[in-house]
Amino acid sequence: MRATLTVLGSGTSMGVPTIGCDCAVCHSSDPHDRRTRPSILIEYAGKSVLIDTTPDFREQALREGIRQLDAVLYTHGHADHILGLDDVRPLSFHRAEKIPLYARPVDAELLRRMFRYIFDANYKFGGLAQVKLHLINGPLDLFGVRFVPVRVIHGDAEILGFRFGEAAYLTDISEIPDDSYAQLTGLDILFLDALRHKPHPTHSTVENSLRIVERVKPKRAFFTHICHDLPHEATNATLPANVRLSYDGMKLEFEI
Ligand SMILES: [Zn+2]
Ligand SMILES: [Zn+2]
Ligand SMILES: [Zn+2]
Repeated sequence: MRATLTVLGSGTSMGVPTIGCDCAVCHSSDPHDRRTRPSILIEYAGKSVLIDTTPDFREQALREGIRQLDAVLYTHGHADHILGLDDVRPLSFHRAEKIPLYARPVDAELLRRMFRYIFDANYKFGGLAQVKLHLINGPLDLFGVRFVPVRVIHGDAEILGFRFGEAAYLTDISEIPDDSYAQLTGLDILFLDALRHKPHPTHSTVENSLRIVERVKPKRAFFTHICHDLPHEATNATLPANVRLSYDGMKLEFEI
């Protein structure tokens, strides 16, 4: 079945432009150089599955005209991937059931702590996001599609990417363990973290992600979690034809 993937945000944790920065990319007039925090939306069979709720979720949802959310998957509990959870509220009120959130046990625990009021049965003020946490303990079936968690290394931590149909989304990686490559065969689309050129303890560089692309051999690769070191057009001009920087609002069709 055909699916659409929309890049809601392609930026690193601080976003681009970065507050108080005078660099050329932060002052670029190219809209591709405006990068909100990293997240994607996958639409198929009349359903919408979101990966991560960034602090920019409200702006992203308004920009893309999102009117429906059927599930949220979390890659990990860092602030740039979870802090927009409250902004799913308007999408959660007129549904028969609560929006299911899927997270590893460690991230579910963190979500319960960070958003204690949402999960507090005695909360007195109302207006809460109507969401329900479910634990990721293996592949998930969401509306007839299998979402396979892919273990990736993010600095000292292990977090999740996801494989779904012929696409995989691996944000916030410094490395991919050898075992996980077996889950990445036959891909049309591969999303990878590529923060910048300069090495970083918890994120991949353009050069490292190009090596991963060489090994995985997807038909198309897109970089995300990009900081202000990489001007969109000039960076794309240096990349192989099947590799591009993603950008906010980018839409891709693929087989799910
Ligand atoms: Zn991140
Ligand atoms: Zn800058
Ligand atoms: Zn992270």
